[in-house]
Amino acid sequence: MVSSQCKIGVVGAGSSGLFLGILLTQQGYQVDIFEKFPDVRTDGCGILLVTSGMKALQAGSRQLCEKIMAAGTPVSNFEFRNLKGKLVNSSSPEYSADELPAMLIHRKAILETLLEFLPAECLHLNAEFKSITQTEAGVTVDFQDGSQWQGDLLVGADGLYSQVREFVVPSVKPFYLGDLVWRGIVNDDTFCTDGNFIAYVRGRGIYANFFDLGHGLTHWGFFVEQEQESTRADLTPIPQFEPIHLNEANSYQAFNYDFINWNSLLSIC
Ligand SMILES: Cc1cc2nc3c(=O)[nH]c(=O)nc-3n(C[C@H](O)[C@H](O)[C@H](O)COP(=O)(O)OP(=O)(O)OC[C@H]3O[C@@H](n4cnc5c(N)ncnc54)[C@H](O)[C@@H]3O)c2cc1C
Repeated sequence: MVSSQCKIGVVGAGSSGLFLGILLTQQGYQVDIFEKFPDVRTDGCGILLVTSGMKALQAGSRQLCEKIMAAGTPVSNFEFRNLKGKLVNSSSPEYSADELPAMLIHRKAILETLLEFLPAECLHLNAEFKSITQTEAGVTVDFQDGSQWQGDLLVGADGLYSQVREFVVPSVKPFYLGDLVWRGIVNDDTFCTDGNFIAYVRGRGIYANFFDLGHGLTHWGFFVEQEQESTRADLTPIPQFEPIHLNEANSYQAFNYDFINWNSLLSIC
């Protein structure tokens, strides 16, 4: 059994690591969160925070959940359209008074809200995990800068390219499905309004999506699904993608798939 005197380390200050840190400190544990970057990365675009996620937030902190609700907008309607824009299906979730809605929200708002609720002393930046040594007494973590941390328990919340996973379950390798997404946020409150979520569907998946984020913002995303020869991890490891930030010079590259001729709306790009 884990005693409340336990010293717990968490690698990664994404939404999972930060929320776990909040829950553990609320229960009296001594928590250290390690993030390899000099800041908590609040970049990103829109996120559909489903009802089960909202319930988890509320179970952890009613106040935190209320702040998240104020920062986004509840989904009022899902629309599925074909590439000609024709409505194929739509559904409007109905929520009873005591039910939490799914929310459309900017990733930055989630991360900033979590940071507000986490005691500042728990967070250690520029701390890049390197390796773990486990003994009967606890765990020692080595960081890339040569420093060390010792504690009772370590949790890996270091995302897709988790290095903690390499130590805990080295045989588990994620594999690349070939999907790629271009996405952004624009100031617009005319195309998607009042919690509307529009998906343009094609083939096995989504071609594009647009959704309201409230506060005059709209999320857009375009999806590329490249067929992969195999779904075996040893044959298709996940490439080390670095996010590409769109600017005037490279935005044509992003839309030079087949998006560019799709819809007159894109001529504004
Ligand atoms: C910058 C960013 C932008 C994103 N934007 C979107 C978006 O717009 N829409 C969407 O749906 N999803 C987005 N995602 C993905 C989404 O946030 C996550 O997949 C999901 O929330 C799961 O969160 P997580 O905390 O498990 O992992 P992540 O959010 O990936 O967080 C993992 C954290 O661990 C840190 N880390 C990694 N390796 C180490 C190490 N060796 N030592 C210390 N720290 C380490 C990373 O820097 C990161 O802060 C984004 C993720 C990131 C990191």
